Amino acid sequence: MKPAVPIRQLPDVLINQIAAGEVVDRPASVVKELVENALDAGAGRVDIDLEEGGTRLIRIRDDGLGIEPDEVPLAVRRHATSKIASLDDLEGVATLGFRGEALPSIASVSRFALVSRTREAAHATAIEVDGGLVGELAPRAHPHGTTVEVRDLFYNVPARRKFLKAERTELSHIEDWLRQLALARPDVELRVSHNGKPSRRWKGERDLLSGERLHEALGPDFVRHSLRVEQGDVGDGRGLRLHGWIAEPSYNRASTDQQFLFVNGRAVRDRSVAHAVRQAYADVLFHGRHPAYVLFLSLDPRRVDVNVHPAKHEVRFRDGRLIYDFVYRTLQGVLAETRAGSSLAGVA
Ligand code: ADP
Ligand code: MG
Repeated sequence: MKPAVPIRQLPDVLINQIAAGEVVDRPASVVKELVENALDAGAGRVDIDLEEGGTRLIRIRDDGLGIEPDEVPLAVRRHATSKIASLDDLEGVATLGFRGEALPSIASVSRFALVSRTREAAHATAIEVDGGLVGELAPRAHPHGTTVEVRDLFYNVPARRKFLKAERTELSHIEDWLRQLALARPDVELRVSHNGKPSRRWKGERDLLSGERLHEALGPDFVRHSLRVEQGDVGDGRGLRLHGWIAEPSYNRASTDQQFLFVNGRAVRDRSVAHAVRQAYADVLFHGRHPAYVLFLSLDPRRVDVNVHPAKHEVRFRDGRLIYDFVYRTLQGVLAETRAGSSLAGVA
């Protein structure tokens, strides 16, 4: 028999590194967490500087509210968050973050620095964390807002580092996510640079259809063949609303690459909603073809659980059946309206 192994309390750094396994699997997930923090802080502009596909450097700068000087150490502490304080808050959470895990997780697997300044503060406060070891606070010059720098992701976790792909692959994962973000938040200006060169700039837009973002993400053909969806609250008190654009049946795809769903502003994958959309198209699309859409579903945050997975790619609806029917009926209505005027020619 093997001797009994004592039970030990794990050190904090290791706890954070374990948690990092759930929220940080590649540079794109770091970008996602950091930009979500910027949006939660009310940023109107976010600058994203990357080097080597984000593996060497990810620097996110925002013009949001900033962090109070004495709270800066808390920002990198596990389970510390300004976004919820009770179970009740959790059940109605409207921010993108709430778990208080992203910064300590990221900081435990990188060389991390955060500089932040509120409107009231005389100067900014900086903190550095190297592989989970937290340094001293230091005053720094910095405009209002927050800059987070993540260097050498996974430098201290070789097993993880090994799984990083080529620069171009990691960059394209980041771009995929940024494209979703650009659609979700047209009001926010985004600037991206890679290896010191500006690579993308999205100005803030009021309306997706007339702006560049929809064109860029789905192409001019989609825009030309898109049908407007706008279905407001059906009056049952759940605050349900579905809006966005779906493609005419004649514009269809061989894959699901142009299907964007946002639930309360969060890009999510949801099989049930995807199925409802597919069903709405069932009579007008050939087997094996897929519809294209950008849909924003909003509802009372109390009726949707976003705390299903640490990375928050999925949600759980309280009234799944009702949502399914709402999406299905709304889209079927939009498609039926236009069917009178269009033929099925071109579907193949
Ligand atoms: P969460 O977003 O789940 O609260 P994080 O670890 O991502 O957890 O961030 C911890 C806290 O640090 C946030 O709750 C917020 O108060 C603060 N914070 C992080 N990033 C920013 C930012 N860009 N601007 C202002 N505050 C921030
Ligand atoms: Mg966060």
